[in-house]
Amino acid sequence: MTRVLGVGAHPDDLEWYAGGTIGKFAREGAEIIFLICTDGDKGSYDPQTDSAQLAAQRRIEQGNAAKEFGVSEIIFLGYADGELQPTLGLRKQLALIYRKYQPDLLLAFDPWKRYELHPDHLAAGRAAVDARIAAKMPLFYPDAREQGLAAWAIGELWLFNADAPNHFIDVSATMEMQRHALEQHRSQTTVWDQAARAFIENQARENGRAIGMDYAEAFRRIVIEGALVVAQGT
Ligand SMILES: [Zn+2]
Repeated sequence: MTRVLGVGAHPDDLEWYAGGTIGKFAREGAEIIFLICTDGDKGSYDPQTDSAQLAAQRRIEQGNAAKEFGVSEIIFLGYADGELQPTLGLRKQLALIYRKYQPDLLLAFDPWKRYELHPDHLAAGRAAVDARIAAKMPLFYPDAREQGLAAWAIGELWLFNADAPNHFIDVSATMEMQRHALEQHRSQTTVWDQAARAFIENQARENGRAIGMDYAEAFRRIVIEGALVVAQGT
């Protein structure tokens, strides 16, 4: 069984950028784990919003959305929304999570996306990609090795919000699932409205054209093969 780890910056990123594909993985029987770096406490246009309350609400919403895909576990790192940095500390946190959960496939933001305006998206992508090497090289974090977190090499990365996509997934059958998941993020109704629905649909239609399908999601897929994917269990 394939184990997929999705790393998002905010609650709703994974559904927004890769929800149709996550739905497809779910239908194919993959085990899916979500990791959300920030608590989303700035995600409101209403200046009266209580940030702590919003963060608590968004955690619940993320749980409800993940249920739509049968996600087995959600890991919340709880960084402040808008302040995520690709630090060595975050890299270590992610690398140890890779070692613990041993995913076959990583879904993450493309850190090379040109003109991406949200710094958290770039930071989450940067840290998620960089943590792969640290997870697979056994001399990183010897303290963790003593705790049984042996090196783990993720063989495949699918980067969403991709700058130069090379992999398209037909999501015609799972867009509905994506929509249901996104609708669970009720605090985001100011952004999650008719226009947002149309945006996602148009984007998927455009991507679909690339592969002759009605709707698709686009990724930069990186497969690491052969000698470079050693290190399991070392
Ligand atoms: Zn986001």
